[in-house]
Amino acid sequence: MDAEIIASGTELLMGETQDTNSSFLSSHLPSVGLQVRKITIIGDDFQEYSEALHKAWEKSSFVFTTGGLGPTKDDLTREAIADLVNEKPSVNEEQLKILKRFFSARNSDMPDTNIKQSWLIPSSTAIRNPNGTAPGWWVEKNNKFVIAMPGPPRELYPMWENEIKPKLLSLLDNEVVMTKSYKTIGLSEARIDEMASPILGSENPYVGIYAKEDGIHIRAIAKAKDQNKALDILKNIDNKVEHIFGSYVWGTDDELPEESLLKLLLSKKKTLGLMESCTAGTIANKITNIDGSSNSLHGGLVSYSDATKIQFGINEDSITKFTSISEQVCREMAIKAKDIFNADYGIATTGIAGNQQIEDIIPGTVFIGIADNSKVKVSKHLFPSNNRNAVKNRASTMAILSLIDFISENI
Ligand code: AMP
Ligand code: MG
Repeated sequence: MDAEIIASGTELLMGETQDTNSSFLSSHLPSVGLQVRKITIIGDDFQEYSEALHKAWEKSSFVFTTGGLGPTKDDLTREAIADLVNEKPSVNEEQLKILKRFFSARNSDMPDTNIKQSWLIPSSTAIRNPNGTAPGWWVEKNNKFVIAMPGPPRELYPMWENEIKPKLLSLLDNEVVMTKSYKTIGLSEARIDEMASPILGSENPYVGIYAKEDGIHIRAIAKAKDQNKALDILKNIDNKVEHIFGSYVWGTDDELPEESLLKLLLSKKKTLGLMESCTAGTIANKITNIDGSSNSLHGGLVSYSDATKIQFGINEDSITKFTSISEQVCREMAIKAKDIFNADYGIATTGIAGNQQIEDIIPGTVFIGIADNSKVKVSKHLFPSNNRNAVKNRASTMAILSLIDFISENI
């Protein structure tokens, strides 16, 4: 069955906020049997909203809206839906109670402007929103649906998962589409293609190979009558991928390299130290964004200048002879990262994150060093970009993946 998404908010048109809600919804709707045929982004303008909503309603069985459920004058979703189905909104006492409770739980009075968040129309029922003041609207009329969700992703995601998805699953008995991605490290795309040949070529599940920022992904798409059957198909692929690729797969779906690395370190009771030059703490930041990182990360040093590198034990002669952006210096840094922090593994980075060429080294060049007690491995990468932050991010991701690869190789 067809679905459309309308994302509203002038901030989306100004480039201030990225429309991540539409990508979230379009990646989740196939799992309940809905195919997204169009995504529209509009500003906070009643005329535009009304026009977009009428068109979507005419063409598709389901229209999902995000944003515009706030309390202010420019939040127009309720007004536009009421106009679409030709009904008048009125205060719903039950919703008003919930709203007032929300404010009193935070020791504040409810401003009058919030009253419109308790509105309903005859064709709508409220969708619970424990994370904010705006309930969603579930609108059903003449066998068509409008499902209105609030803009903040931290409200929309749980509303989808806990309220809307279960309702759609019980309502629809369409073919559902579910996907699973396996993220790999250490194999070329061509090699993966070769190894994956036993699982390639079938229609259901369909398996594809994609090169992404964090390595090469193998993605399986399963279609079935219901979610459980689709999950069975994916389970079968799980076993085959495990059999073919084993530890070359470092994670699945939304799993981050740093999550996967910490799991690996924890399972082996191993610890980590960092010495970062060009990534300047980005690796430490990524790792410490994950709960429980203190079990494995002993510490990190931003040894940005040559003097600091020397102060912390890098050989001055190596820097003079090879420059600090070199395989030799990176190697020494990786060993120091391990030793300074008394850890099992050390990660080091040194390179050029900016646009300026230093001597004959191309901007974007980054050396990544990994050391344990018996070995050091240094790799050279090129991450060309005008954006220093992008280079730091990509180099950090690659450094984390390099340690995963290093540990897997030595199992
Ligand atoms: P609203 O429900 O329109 O009041 O939206 C409240 C906030 O949610 C906005 O200020 C944005 O920060 C965020 N937001 C709105 N729409 C989106 C969207 N499509 N994707 C991501 N964030 C959004
Ligand atoms: Mg808004």
